[in-house]
Amino acid sequence: MARPRAGVLALQGDVREHLRVLTLLGAEAVPVRTPAELASVDGLVVPGGESSVIDKLSRAFGLFQPLRERIAERMPVYGTCAGLILLADRITDGAPGQQTFGGIDVTVQRNAFGGQVDSFETDLDVPALGDRPVHAVFIRAPRVTQAGPGVEPLATLEDGSVVAVRQGTLLGTAFHPEMTGEHRFHALLLELMRAA
Ligand code: GLN
Repeated sequence: MARPRAGVLALQGDVREHLRVLTLLGAEAVPVRTPAELASVDGLVVPGGESSVIDKLSRAFGLFQPLRERIAERMPVYGTCAGLILLADRITDGAPGQQTFGGIDVTVQRNAFGGQVDSFETDLDVPALGDRPVHAVFIRAPRVTQAGPGVEPLATLEDGSVVAVRQGTLLGTAFHPEMTGEHRFHALLLELMRAA
């Protein structure tokens, strides 16, 4: 794959920032709003935003089932914040009727650190990405409260909260690397796409 074609699910949320990072890394970055657009990409970012809204819109746009199928076929996907919630097999504190695409064998607690005013930034060790810490921004962020045996925790806060995970070709972070010039998670996604 000379130039991987990377989609960003573009129903709601901070789509443009992810398109920018993927383009900077040399991918052909495209917004995904239809099943045909989804079928055309080699991998996908599910952005931050509001997971219950992205869930509803994905069903309205006929993307919910096709997304579940692509995930089951092991398409590489990276979910940030709301995106992590959408990739979780189980969630707590969801909106009424909220569903997820699933794929990562974790339980994720929505809004685990409080509301907008409780947003915070911190430097995180992420050994899988090398020695340089990740500067992470948490905005109404979720946390992983339970993980199955196939899940690799990539980063943990001082209080023990797991905030980044990987399972096979799926990556999820509770924070927003696209907002702080941190490109290594997106680079890892592109690596998984090239290896697929
Ligand atoms: N709290 C939001 C949700 O439940 C996620 C916030 C974010 O993506 N920054 O989807």
